[in-house]
Amino acid sequence: MPLALKDILCIDGVRTTAGSKILEGYVPPYDSTVVKKLRGAGVPIVGKANLDEFAMGSSTENSAYGPSRNPWDLARVPGGSSGGSAAAVSAGFAPLGIGTDTGGSIRQPASLCGVVGVKPTYGLVSRYGLLAFASSLDQVGPFARTVEDAALLLEAIAGHDRMDATSIPEEVPPYVKGLESGVKGLRVGVVSDWVEGEGVQPGVTERVRAAIESLSSLGAEIGEISLPSFRYALSAYYLIAPAECSSNLARYDGVRWGLRAPEAKDVVEMNVRSRTAGFGDEVKRRIMLGTYALSAGYYDAYYGKAQQVRTLVIRDFEKAYERFDVLLGPTSPTTAFKIGEKADDPLAMYLNDVFTIPSNLAGAAAISLPCGLAEDGLPVGLQLLGPPMSEGLLFKVAYAYEQARGPVDAPPLWGRS
Ligand code: GLN
Repeated sequence: MPLALKDILCIDGVRTTAGSKILEGYVPPYDSTVVKKLRGAGVPIVGKANLDEFAMGSSTENSAYGPSRNPWDLARVPGGSSGGSAAAVSAGFAPLGIGTDTGGSIRQPASLCGVVGVKPTYGLVSRYGLLAFASSLDQVGPFARTVEDAALLLEAIAGHDRMDATSIPEEVPPYVKGLESGVKGLRVGVVSDWVEGEGVQPGVTERVRAAIESLSSLGAEIGEISLPSFRYALSAYYLIAPAECSSNLARYDGVRWGLRAPEAKDVVEMNVRSRTAGFGDEVKRRIMLGTYALSAGYYDAYYGKAQQVRTLVIRDFEKAYERFDVLLGPTSPTTAFKIGEKADDPLAMYLNDVFTIPSNLAGAAAISLPCGLAEDGLPVGLQLLGPPMSEGLLFKVAYAYEQARGPVDAPPLWGRS
């Protein structure tokens, strides 16, 4: 089964850009573990897929190589940062895709393109050979058109890797085997502040409500839950992720990889000019934010506080999972927006990920799958969230819902000759 690979994972001998000019001409001399595993499973990689520069963004407009488009409406974004992979799967260019999810970058584009996307537990899939954005949050995961294909792909890429110090030393359970065991008696917690939340498009609420009805008629026990600390998760993320990115991206200095500005009079000027020319606006914004948050005198007020919020989010999740087996809500507050619509408003762009970020902060598992079209005719994503290592459970619930839902429409693009 052919696959589109987010261009942030190294393939031996193949140009890898991370959507950035700073890596111009960089050809990795090794395969990432994910690529090695895909080769082992006989999965041909048909292409490198576009992304927001260094996976920073929610629309794929931050790529130095131009935006990707949504197969449902070419004037709209496919989401991001893994927008190229999601669009490729949605458009039928490849049945499988690989993305990375630091704050929602697999689930949000899956939602906006009407495909399945999985953010695995932190440490389940090796990050060896993945160009780092925020190392404590980054996780590689699958895109597919069905839950079963996504489960198969995760089985193929997951597993312990001694090349990644944060890799979980456990056997990968057979996800596909358990798919058909049903949801009878399973406790599903609806995150009420998300379904009816401020800024949530009415058509999104309506489709998610219909999915809840469907799970209920399949025998799941539905309850409601409010998660108070989650309203701070977005702010905490936009301190932690930039802080880690400012440190990870310090290595692109014009010396070791890719772009080097010519004719500098000394090494410092060469560093400055290479980074000025090589990084785009969003990446620069985050490097500055992160450097500031980590500075002496500000560290405790910003970075330290954000880490405390992270702990609160983890505790709220733990409490929620005493009452429920899985949680449920929308993946994204809206359907796909127009190219350019939010490009000049970073805060509006960041709000895309309010519902996805908590799972990253907690290192937990989550999945997005299509749950019909909104009033604007565009796909809506249903998000299922579980504790770390609950992928099997999430696949089972997603599969049960998917079977009840029936096949989804293909984007209008498919009908074109
Ligand atoms: N959109 C979020 C951001 O810009 C998440 C990105 C991601 O998950 N890689 O940081």
